[in-house]
Amino acid sequence: MLKIYNTLSRKLEEFISLESRKVGMYTCGPTVYGYTHIGHLRKYTSDDILVRVLVAYGYEVKHVMNITDVGHLTSDEDQGDDKLEKGAKERNESVWEVAKYFTDYFIKSTLALNIYPPDNLVKATDHIKEQIKLIQILEKKGFIYQTEQAIYFDVSKFPNYGKLTGQKLEEKTVGVRQDVRVDPKKKNPADFALWFFTVGHFKDHVMRWNSPWGEGFPGWHIECSAMSMEYLGNTLDIHTGGIDHIPVHHTNEIAQSEAATGEQFVRYWVHHNFLRIDQVKMSKSLKNLYTIDDIRAKGFDPLALRYLFLTAHYREELNFSWDSLQAGQTALNNLREIVRDWNSNVSEESKVSKDVSEKFLNALGEDLNTSKALAVVWEMVKSDFASGEKAATILEMDKVLGLGLSDYVGKKIEIPAEVQKLLNQREKAREEKDFEKSDELRKEIKKMGYEIEDFVNGVKVKIIS
Ligand code: AMP
Ligand code: ZN
Repeated sequence: MLKIYNTLSRKLEEFISLESRKVGMYTCGPTVYGYTHIGHLRKYTSDDILVRVLVAYGYEVKHVMNITDVGHLTSDEDQGDDKLEKGAKERNESVWEVAKYFTDYFIKSTLALNIYPPDNLVKATDHIKEQIKLIQILEKKGFIYQTEQAIYFDVSKFPNYGKLTGQKLEEKTVGVRQDVRVDPKKKNPADFALWFFTVGHFKDHVMRWNSPWGEGFPGWHIECSAMSMEYLGNTLDIHTGGIDHIPVHHTNEIAQSEAATGEQFVRYWVHHNFLRIDQVKMSKSLKNLYTIDDIRAKGFDPLALRYLFLTAHYREELNFSWDSLQAGQTALNNLREIVRDWNSNVSEESKVSKDVSEKFLNALGEDLNTSKALAVVWEMVKSDFASGEKAATILEMDKVLGLGLSDYVGKKIEIPAEVQKLLNQREKAREEKDFEKSDELRKEIKKMGYEIEDFVNGVKVKIIS
């Protein structure tokens, strides 16, 4: 049985899809104004595990993710500056160039962690029409009002506005910051913008479109409702996001979607907790935002980061440190070396250990308990099963873990004596910090058909295919 914690009910629930064996899942994607960092990657790895677990449980998953390229404001509450325009100024590029550059960086980063691309990766700027259409429905149903600055959703018209947080509307308004520029014509501080007009503070806003109400650009929340329902229908099985999205973004998504359709918007809300660094929150000012390139530059394999993420539960905070990443790299290296010795002739399904697979899936069925699933892996690794059975079983489990073990299972490397001699010389050169010589030797080894990758705990040798 697959159980998932649902933020909406605040309970662990058995997962039952709306349509038999099919799942529609929507994930809030990145705002593409800055580099994807490893905190983001923890979140997208958790989404990826969820997709893979659903598949392992026999579901066909349609996964949709948005790219926020319209640029939303530096505060979730309709205040502050446009993040994309800020990024464009910093980089001296157009907003379109910035969005493209960071979207590509995001995709590259997720691929490095073996995160499956979503079935539909959809850009807000490509779906302005759908967003306008949704606002028109809300207009017809009497949920909106207009000021000189924007069109707002009137939260007082939507019963049970705070159902995702369990907060009452009166409590929520207290939490909204009053110190930043606000529209004095807003009726309730919790009302949120569906459409901003290019006037006042936004008069020079670069991204702008025509609408039935006047030129402007959509608010942030409306894109997720419009695009998720466009691709998945009025009711989604699963919607994911970081815990920071619960009080504003997802609360608003529910309000506008359900107000428009009169149907339940999402059946299971899944929220991921944060990655911290050395016990503090990551931030640009502390310069502790690491990207996948920083991980590589320190000699780590991006999949060591994936391994590290799997050691913690997605609803718990995880603290990143270089030591913890090193521990992940060591465990992954050990696993890779062990599976190399196993029998690679593993194509027959019958060889998969049903007991181990079941135990593994049961662990993941407990609200995606990946650390327990990893314990099942190590228990099997140390067991005395036949090596062919172990190989088949670990490959089956790796469909969920995504550690790329198929590159290692049964792939013993027989290094010819003359290559080994050069490898030893290179190791010695590295120990003596003679990097010039070490580089020369690498080139020589490459000429003989072997690629070397250096890691913190040693070298990996691959045959150039
Ligand atoms: P951003 O593009 O910076 O608004 O971030 C997009 C989403 O990534 C956030 O809303 C969070 O859900 C998630 N996120 C940001 N920082 C972290 C972090 N340190 N750990 C986990 N998730 C994060
Ligand atoms: Zn969203």
